[in-house]
Amino acid sequence: MPEPDVEVRRSQRRHRTVSAYRDGGRVIVLIPDQFTRAEEREWVDRMLHRLAARDDRARRTDDELTVRASRLAQRYLADHGARTRAATVRWVKNQNGRWGSCTPADRTIRISDRIMNMPEWVVDYVLLHELVHLVVPSHNATFWALVGRYPKAERARGYLEGVAATTGTPIDDD
Ligand SMILES: [Zn+2]
Repeated sequence: MPEPDVEVRRSQRRHRTVSAYRDGGRVIVLIPDQFTRAEEREWVDRMLHRLAARDDRARRTDDELTVRASRLAQRYLADHGARTRAATVRWVKNQNGRWGSCTPADRTIRISDRIMNMPEWVVDYVLLHELVHLVVPSHNATFWALVGRYPKAERARGYLEGVAATTGTPIDDD
């Protein structure tokens, strides 16, 4: 991996927090002004690793998500056949408070990256929820009966409600 172009910015307003972001081809690392050179080197290194790990995760997961979705469809919705195959399944940044969304017309599913670090069984629930929407667009009894085939559906809903309540985000169970 080539060394990225790094720019370190010291800030007197920062005390302990370090952050980093990409700006075009370079990486900007913000550190507290009182950091020593040794601390600066240590933190720049640490933040570069963190950014690289984040990139790996982002690259990997659209494919991973697609594979997981088709496994879930086969396991829980096999009797609905090809109707539960999504054309694309991908992570998205802004979902306006929704964990996932589905457009049955073009069979696309989008999953909020806010759930990326939640337990696997919660991600699976959100995926299955959206897959069921390919067959049943509304939240009617048939819909919930299909979602209920996933053993941890209720638990996952409770988990997501808990997160929504503690973060104060209005969550549209879409
Ligand atoms: Zn829904």
